[in-house]
Amino acid sequence: MAGERKLEKRLSATMEDSVNQLDKPFTGSSMRVAKHSTAAPGCFSCFSGMAPKQREVDIVLIGAGIMSATVGLMLKDLEPGWKMIMFERLHAAGEESSNGFNNAGTGHSGFMEPNYTKEVLNPDGSLKTVTTEKVEHICEQFLSSRQYWDYLVKKGLLPNPDDFIHQTNHIALGVGKDQVEFIKKRYEAMKGNPLFSTMEICLPEEKAKASQWAPLICTGRDANEPICMTKVPYGTDVDFGTLCKAKIESFQKLGGDLRLNTEVKDVKKDKDGKWLVTTKVSGAGSGWAVTKAKFVFVGAGGWALLLLQKAGIPQVNGYMALPVTGDWAVCQNPEVVAKHKVKVYAPGAPGAPPMSMPHLDYRTIGGKEMLLFGPFGSITLKFLRYGSNVDALKAVKPHNLLATIGALSRNLSLAVMLMKDVFKSGAGKLHDIRHYYPEADPDDWIFIPAGVRAQIIKKDPKTGKGMLQFGTEVVTNDEGSIVGLLGASPGASTSVSIALDVIEKCFGNKPEFKRWIPKLKVMIPTYSPDGPAGDMSQVNATVVNNLYATTGATLKISPK
Ligand SMILES: Cc1cc2nc3c(=O)[nH]c(=O)nc-3n(C[C@H](O)[C@H](O)[C@H](O)COP(=O)(O)OP(=O)(O)OC[C@H]3O[C@@H](n4cnc5c(N)ncnc54)[C@H](O)[C@@H]3O)c2cc1C
Repeated sequence: MAGERKLEKRLSATMEDSVNQLDKPFTGSSMRVAKHSTAAPGCFSCFSGMAPKQREVDIVLIGAGIMSATVGLMLKDLEPGWKMIMFERLHAAGEESSNGFNNAGTGHSGFMEPNYTKEVLNPDGSLKTVTTEKVEHICEQFLSSRQYWDYLVKKGLLPNPDDFIHQTNHIALGVGKDQVEFIKKRYEAMKGNPLFSTMEICLPEEKAKASQWAPLICTGRDANEPICMTKVPYGTDVDFGTLCKAKIESFQKLGGDLRLNTEVKDVKKDKDGKWLVTTKVSGAGSGWAVTKAKFVFVGAGGWALLLLQKAGIPQVNGYMALPVTGDWAVCQNPEVVAKHKVKVYAPGAPGAPPMSMPHLDYRTIGGKEMLLFGPFGSITLKFLRYGSNVDALKAVKPHNLLATIGALSRNLSLAVMLMKDVFKSGAGKLHDIRHYYPEADPDDWIFIPAGVRAQIIKKDPKTGKGMLQFGTEVVTNDEGSIVGLLGASPGASTSVSIALDVIEKCFGNKPEFKRWIPKLKVMIPTYSPDGPAGDMSQVNATVVNNLYATTGATLKISPK
């Protein structure tokens, strides 16, 4: 019981809570591994020349972010008898990009994000319509996430949904003539789809309605500046950090092993085709260990590229990452927060990349309500927030050099935009906030660092030139025995579809997969092994409305 309490404390706390806090004086060589006969041998082996002893498991998961949490929990549920171990270099799970303060917490469903619809122009250059394929796919992927979380809550594998997810209207905002036109065309293109049938529009002349939907956006705004909005009531705000910790706690309850303060230093294939994962424990009782596994999931966030390169799989050749970080402006004034229980996204400047489109978000992080605005972009060489300044340098290899140079030279506008943000003064940042919230008071806002997005750079398969890609890619070797995630968007919202993708790619032609299909359909009722992960073969109004109603009731996120 005492052990359980200690574990719970460790998993639910943030940075100041170290796993190596002990109730009694430290006596062993390593509190995490010393008791196991097959564990790290400490430094004795370094001097004696003896190889570190090995432990053997079925699955190693590298990193304890939302991706490993989801893949690990799903696999442990599907195959309870398999030995699984998760290594995390930090002192707690979910402290990198998955932490509530390091991302925007948007349950991405395409309801309001302007970058998921591409503009289609008339011959005269005016806006004809927008494409909806991407926005539909993202919405379906998030519906898979809702279904899986519904299943986990009902099974007692996730806590009270209030701890990690909240209903919040998703509002797409257009300011000025061109953006108003865009929002109207976007509405026309999306409204007929059952996924977006609850979308409502507020035209420039409907001023009272606009003030009711989003008072902070409207009050004090120049009456001559036209604005247009759409609203979808099925939007959500998700505390992915809390969700991640809760999933990992359940992974452990089902028998999964979590090793904190344990960094994976190397991944190599053994002669028998299994993987040798070398780890080093930091802090008390430092020691090296080698874990042998049939399957490795590299859920190391920005460091996935470096680890896949170490594993030497040819499939990662040509890939590089462009790390982008930034700051959030945070407002915790309860009077202000009470007036903006919505998320508002607007298009950026023409041609601007997705991360340059700031948004004003209602958030609940660790149970506390606040507003986040941003991110204000910034350049970094680190692939993780707690990474190293030589990350980018380490990742440059002869096979990705040309793609990197090509992608960077073709995306100079992004570099310029980031440099502008880096040198933006406090007044400049306030000006940006006031574009959304005209009466913002500087005394209400503080700035905190956001996480790092390691965007993919790779060779464009069509042109052979280097390109920057704003998506996520699942990269696996031929046998499907090692798999890693590159890229960062749309991210945590699609973690369930990504987990399904990983499972299909790596286990799809293995005997156990057939056995898993019925269970996967219990976890995610719309799941089908025949289409791309997350896609729903028959999207009709009845299916969609039923999904929103059932998952909404379990997760307590039905429209208010
Ligand atoms: C500014 C910003 C805003 C975002 N907004 C949203 C949003 O609104 N909605 C959304 O869905 N997504 C959003 N994302 C994306 C989302 O946060 C990420 O896609 C997601 O959290 C990635 O999860 P992960 O598990 O892959 O990586 P992480 O959460 O980064 O976890 C990786 C873990 O691996 C560990 N690790 C790394 N290397 C090693 C090693 N060698 N050994 C052991 N452990 C290791 C790290 O310490 C870390 O804990 C945003 C991201 C950023 C940066």
